Amino acid sequence: MAADTVPVTGWGRTAPTTARLIRPRTYEEAAAAVRNCGVRGGIPRGLGRAYGDAAQNAGGSVLDMTGLDRIHTIDAGGGTVLCDAGVSLHRLMEVLLPLGWFVPVTPGTRFVTVGGAIGADIHGKNHHVSGSFTRHVLSLELLTADGEIHTVGHGTPLFEATAGGMGLTGVILTATIRLQPVETSLMRVATERATDLDDLMARLTATDHHHRYSVAWIDLLARGAATGRAVLTRGDHAPLESLGRRARARRDPLAFRTPRLPAAPAFLPQGLLSRTTVGLFNEFWYRKAPRARTGALQTIPAFFHPLDGVPHWNRVYGRGGFVQYQFVVGQGQEDTLRRIVNRISQRRCPSFLAVLKRFGDADPGWLSFPLPGWTLALDLPASLPGLGGFLDELDEEVAAAGGRVYLAKDSRLRPELLTAMYPRLDDFRALRAELDPRGVFMSDLARRLDL
Ligand SMILES: Cc1cc2nc3c(=O)[nH]c(=O)nc-3n(C[C@H](O)[C@H](O)[C@H](O)COP(=O)(O)OP(=O)(O)OC[C@H]3O[C@@H](n4cnc5c(N)ncnc54)[C@H](O)[C@@H]3O)c2cc1C
Repeated sequence: MAADTVPVTGWGRTAPTTARLIRPRTYEEAAAAVRNCGVRGGIPRGLGRAYGDAAQNAGGSVLDMTGLDRIHTIDAGGGTVLCDAGVSLHRLMEVLLPLGWFVPVTPGTRFVTVGGAIGADIHGKNHHVSGSFTRHVLSLELLTADGEIHTVGHGTPLFEATAGGMGLTGVILTATIRLQPVETSLMRVATERATDLDDLMARLTATDHHHRYSVAWIDLLARGAATGRAVLTRGDHAPLESLGRRARARRDPLAFRTPRLPAAPAFLPQGLLSRTTVGLFNEFWYRKAPRARTGALQTIPAFFHPLDGVPHWNRVYGRGGFVQYQFVVGQGQEDTLRRIVNRISQRRCPSFLAVLKRFGDADPGWLSFPLPGWTLALDLPASLPGLGGFLDELDEEVAAAGGRVYLAKDSRLRPELLTAMYPRLDDFRALRAELDPRGVFMSDLARRLDL
């Protein structure tokens, strides 16, 4: 099996390191790669959409699992799929939508693998209804450090440690996933504006449960009375009857088409994303949104994955890359959220991609991120002066409020705060010590945070 030594980064492109990249094409090759990954260990990698350093391993091996991408069985009656962990959610949508099924949870990009979705226990706009991805995984096959393949399901320590375990319990080879039935590939969308953060939280609390999907884009440059103003978007899968007779005759209601714009240029001028340009963009985006509109029809890519239409959009932040900061604080910690939003907006951080969402119940994965409460995610250019110290202070506020930072987005959290943020961390470490005493599975994230 060929292995090249190459630079590897996360989607934010902040901390590149060099590793031996191995691309197994069979389960036997994956087992051989685990056996031979060397003293610096190895880490499985999917499509590299984790923003930080979770799927990289300085001086060691990285197992690119996208070569194992077969869809084995679809139960079109019962709504389950058994597939390799290297299959992307994009591919699952292409194959499953025409059959009337959708993935149970999708993040803001469909270019993630099933292995990455389980490894980070990803959440989507439907967390308040459906929980995280792994809640819908009926079982998975895991290749562990001893070269054995285990079939594991809910309620077992190995499953709960693997759900959100950031690839550190082993290589997920396959998964059986329960699907969401749909009658069309369109979304029925309601949009409304919220004038400030309190208005936004009140709207989310009062009516989130009316819709399967819900998320708010928030203007973090707005200040004063407008602090936290937002555009709230909610949606549901459009039932067939809602399309009307003419629309049904005109198009296949389950067709899945994906627009593709030209790729972002490799390098953009420094300062393109300044406070001024982002402020103008935010103003335009807020004003362009209808004050209140219901019943608009949107495609799945437009509703869930608008950024996927622009290949390599992460280049707009220039050579220095960008940090995505995502935290959650529980219900009842609204004051912490208000304080943090105020601090970000007073600091005039140029973030045009900022979303607030209300999570439902926590998921059983030991390192799973969601807690019932509020999660805020924002992109920030890594070159912003004083960014590290500022985010360290926010981490402390989040930890003091019983909240946590999302490991799939992280590239900078300090290890001291991790135990407070993830109370099952000791169980995770103990299981790893027993399962993998030689530390075969290792990543830059694991080294930095002593996972
Ligand atoms: C534009 C954008 C929007 C996003 N929106 C969201 C969102 O709404 N919600 C959300 O939760 N996340 C979101 N993310 C983050 C993304 O969903 C996760 O980081 C996901 O894990 C990426 O999957 P991947 O296949 O690219 O995995 P990678 O980034 O390659 O790896 C991520 C982790 O999964 C592990 N892993 C990968 N494959 C396997 C395997 N076969 N076996 C075991 N472990 C494995 C890796 O070791 C690593 O720890 C977003 C990312 C982007 C770029």
